[in-house]
Amino acid sequence: MKLPRWFAAGVVATAALALVWAERRRALRERVEPQITHTGRNLAIAACGALALQLAERPVVRRVAALVVRRRWGLLQRLRLPLWLEVPAAMLLMDYTLYLWHVLCHRAPVLWRAHAVHHIDRDLDASTALRFHFLELTASVPWRAGQVVLIGVSPFALSVWQTWLMVSILFHHSNVALPPGVERALGWFIVTPRMHGIHHSIAEDEVNANWSSGLAIWDRVHGTLRLDVPQRTITIGVRSFDTPDRVRLPEMLALPFAGRDISATAWPQE
Ligand SMILES: [Zn+2]
Repeated sequence: MKLPRWFAAGVVATAALALVWAERRRALRERVEPQITHTGRNLAIAACGALALQLAERPVVRRVAALVVRRRWGLLQRLRLPLWLEVPAAMLLMDYTLYLWHVLCHRAPVLWRAHAVHHIDRDLDASTALRFHFLELTASVPWRAGQVVLIGVSPFALSVWQTWLMVSILFHHSNVALPPGVERALGWFIVTPRMHGIHHSIAEDEVNANWSSGLAIWDRVHGTLRLDVPQRTITIGVRSFDTPDRVRLPEMLALPFAGRDISATAWPQE
């Protein structure tokens, strides 16, 4: 059992359309690049990423989740919880282990080379949520499979978590200026656009904060939450990729493979 594909796709598409509409009505940050260039580039990177997910992630992770149920692998399968408890527990543990993966993507130079493609985007909006290099997505497959096996995530819980995560990622990358009171209240529970905007700053002490991707609690628990940076003071991107000729599509697709050492200039220092 899993969420019907049409339902998950409908939820994600509705969220994306609503956010794009809201971005036009109430933008949070001023654009640096022409929107058509920016969106086109992000969708091209996303298309390569979608192919990687289709070829590398879906067949492996889905199959592993089915095995987890059949063989009763992992914590939650051993506990034999009722479905109403099993699904939230799976989502919570997947969310936490995704926080750890995100930290690793910044700390391990080989992963940072791929994750940097996501951060080099000089504008942050809903399309950035789709801008992940295919190498990062492929590299995440063993981690994702490990999460599913150790936690004991069923195909149904996995499909619910993936749908929720996609909506969450679209939301916190979006360039939507929520009323500050609403954002402050939401920020107690989930990652918000201003919160995640700080993580996309070129400043090292700001990029090394706000690693959560769903629930905001993990940054609170680890003391990595920062809410004290006004959006207008933030420059989005990576320091050495601050001109149009350095962020073009071919360079972005080749970046993780290029011999160029981006760690010296773009690696977020302690
Ligand atoms: Zn990051």
